[in-house]
Amino acid sequence: MTPVIPTTAEPLPVPALRPLPSKLFVETTTFCNLSCPMCVKHAEGSTIEEGHLTQATFDALKPAFSHLEALFLNGIGEPLIHPQLASFIAQARAEMATEAWIGFHNPTACCSPRTMPEKFSTPVRTVSAYPSIL
Ligand code: SF4
Repeated sequence: MTPVIPTTAEPLPVPALRPLPSKLFVETTTFCNLSCPMCVKHAEGSTIEEGHLTQATFDALKPAFSHLEALFLNGIGEPLIHPQLASFIAQARAEMATEAWIGFHNPTACCSPRTMPEKFSTPVRTVSAYPSIL
């Protein structure tokens, strides 16, 4: 079914009733520099393979970007390990509305708003899973 995309200035329905997603959570990588004992990657019998989100898969998501209120780049692993994270953020920013925000999960807490690497050319939000180790 082809989604109906509003073309007028009518107020959008509540997010759950919109034809396209308003928030997108994208798993960027399964690589991680931690070995948390409760991690599903390290659970007995885990078959999770290590790998990065590819540019081709990211490209396939781009048609949704202009409709988003938020893009969240997360993973089972640490998104900062992905060598293209900054590029993904820049590419998404170019497609997204000015008021929409981009964030990424930062489980190893290796950066914060105070120590954000300068490689990010656009403001991003970070969420640390383990703020107690900051
Ligand atoms: S930070 Fe997340 S992905 Fe990494 S080992 Fe811990 S639980 Fe697993």
